[in-house]
Amino acid sequence: MTDKREAVAGFAALARRGVSRRSFIKLCTAAAVALGLDVSYGPRMAGAAAAAVGKKPLVWMQGQGCTGCSESLISSFDPGPAEIVLDLLSVRYHPTIMAGAGEVATEAWQEALRQGGFILVLEGAIPMADPRFALVDGRPFAEQFAEAAARAEVVVAAGSCAAYGGIPRAGITGAAGAQAVVKDKPLINLPSCPVKPTRLLGTLLYYLTFKEAPPLDEHLRPVPYYRRFLQHESCPRRGHFEQGEFLQDWNDPDTADWCLLYKGCKGPLTYTDCSRIWWNDGVNYCIRAGSPCSGCTQPEFYDRFSPLYKKQENFPAPGILGMNAPALAKGIAGLTAAGVATHAVVRAVSGKKNEKEDEV
Ligand code: SF4
Ligand code: SF4
Repeated sequence: MTDKREAVAGFAALARRGVSRRSFIKLCTAAAVALGLDVSYGPRMAGAAAAAVGKKPLVWMQGQGCTGCSESLISSFDPGPAEIVLDLLSVRYHPTIMAGAGEVATEAWQEALRQGGFILVLEGAIPMADPRFALVDGRPFAEQFAEAAARAEVVVAAGSCAAYGGIPRAGITGAAGAQAVVKDKPLINLPSCPVKPTRLLGTLLYYLTFKEAPPLDEHLRPVPYYRRFLQHESCPRRGHFEQGEFLQDWNDPDTADWCLLYKGCKGPLTYTDCSRIWWNDGVNYCIRAGSPCSGCTQPEFYDRFSPLYKKQENFPAPGILGMNAPALAKGIAGLTAAGVATHAVVRAVSGKKNEKEDEV
């Protein structure tokens, strides 16, 4: 009964901020479906989230990063995920968007830690080589983050840097993801560069509803957003891959929509829902916009997937036996000329099923 009353009050609070009950249920239903749940979970998630409006505290900490994840979140259309997240939760500390600064901000952080029981979001990586690479308020960031994690209910690593070290890991700071510090708390990794707002919102909605993390894969990513979809399997350019048609000259309009493997596409090794749930509120996503996939949702990003825009000399695509890109292209062209579907031959030669098949 209390929950119902709290939900009604929460819906009213959201309405006062311009988010109608109807649009909130619609958003929650979309989030439920993206998480692989039945549509009937939408209203349930909306009710649970509305009941939590302004109650569940959130602490957002930022290590080594470019603030792109915060930017990504707050640049969404109106009423975007940022607005919903901020309206839903009681944001106690966020170094980029909070009004307070200096001692006031530090006191807010300390007070949140004293009370405990908050959702801790990490943006950016944690420098592990030398604490002096990131000092906040004169203290090592790694130490501060460990202190916050110890008082948190759950930790969410938002973006590639926070999840696995991301781009900073290619430098000298020993940059690592949250897992290097968080040992005894539930940890949810939401890698991508930047964090995808719909994934962050959906994960928070799931947590508020079920009081636990969604099912996670071996890299601690929610399965429905990542492990369920191999980029290469659902790519709009896949037909050209099958035909051995690889874009080689960016300036050739005749091949503009061909496969981007030669341009460094990491799609064959990348698990992500990008081709199904597009970015920027459903406007587009990398490959469809003409850019190869950088594999930003994978732990290998960025240093082990570098260079980003050049073909990999020995790219161990699943089922392709580590064949290098030119040989692969040549082989595929020959096979398709013979009228044989590439994936069928590759699997027959390798004697293996692909990872996705193994899951089914
Ligand atoms: S290599 Fe990249 S561009 Fe080519 S089909 Fe696979 S995912 Fe698409
Ligand atoms: S398409 Fe690839 S590079 Fe682009 S956001 Fe998705 S996983 Fe990252």
